[in-house]
Amino acid sequence: MSDLTALTQDALAEVAACGDLAALDEARVRWLGKRGVLTEQLKALGALPAAERPAVGARINEAKQELQSAIESRHAALERAAVDRELTAGGIDVTLPGRGERPGTLHPVTQARLRIETLFRRAGFEVAAGPEIEDDFHNFEALNIPPNHPARAMHDTFYFPDGRLLRTHTSPVQIRALQARGAPLAIIAPGRVYRCDSDMTHSPMFHQLEGLVVDENISFANMKAVLHGFLQAFFERELAMRLRPSFFPFTEPSAEVDMSCVFCEGRGCRVCKQTGWLEISGCGMVHPNVLRASGVDAERYTGYAFGAGIDRLAMLRYGVNDLRLFFENDLRFLGQFPSLPA
Ligand SMILES: [Zn+2]
Repeated sequence: MSDLTALTQDALAEVAACGDLAALDEARVRWLGKRGVLTEQLKALGALPAAERPAVGARINEAKQELQSAIESRHAALERAAVDRELTAGGIDVTLPGRGERPGTLHPVTQARLRIETLFRRAGFEVAAGPEIEDDFHNFEALNIPPNHPARAMHDTFYFPDGRLLRTHTSPVQIRALQARGAPLAIIAPGRVYRCDSDMTHSPMFHQLEGLVVDENISFANMKAVLHGFLQAFFERELAMRLRPSFFPFTEPSAEVDMSCVFCEGRGCRVCKQTGWLEISGCGMVHPNVLRASGVDAERYTGYAFGAGIDRLAMLRYGVNDLRLFFENDLRFLGQFPSLPA
């Protein structure tokens, strides 16, 4: 029995000395496992005289329980220590300020579009929209571009198998607005258009602005005044504007609109290729065929139409020299255009 007391002391000392959970588990197996030292003591009971067995058995069980509870409390202490170590090693400084979230801004092209809409609304225009998936009639035929017209070759068109297409310009909105509402009418139609084209100054999807005014006694001079007024309001400065004869199937006569370069004030620089002028829009008087195709009396009404690139207007306003920057969604670029009221 003195053996048992000494064994228990040894076991308790070993448990107290265990430095980690793995060592503690080894000690538990050595003393209390199936072939553990104390377990073997119980097995040896059979060799004792029957009268002594109950007392000795009870002492062995006491020793086992004492050891079991010592192991449990050592286990809890080692676990606490492990958690403490992890917390210290993790080094989380809960007093550091959070990273937070930066407020977003409207995309510069969206800002340019909203500004354009505001300026034209002030001039009495309504903002109209049309589908981006168009049919041949609205995108080409009604705009005086019949099948096999050479102008179709200039529109690198995305076609669907059923013959429909992604609109190549916002001009089909002219037809839809005239068909729906008739004359008189003054609309702008900003929106996405698509062409099979991609380089520094072309993107397969880009934004166009369409303008259309149809009424009695509308003249070329009206168009010139509205466009000049718009450009000066959009760029917030005095600008010279000039018209050069051009050709579009849906206007007659047609013109290209140039404005004095916003970077060099017309003196000549790299952006304007030393000419002092920037090409900014195409325009003209609505072709009578277009009015007729839309069900408008071409004898009574005249109109003008113009188109401009919203991306180009935004590039010139913000001094961006690569169109692709607008479509890469790099926050370092986009973050430079805080949203301002239009
Ligand atoms: Zn210039």
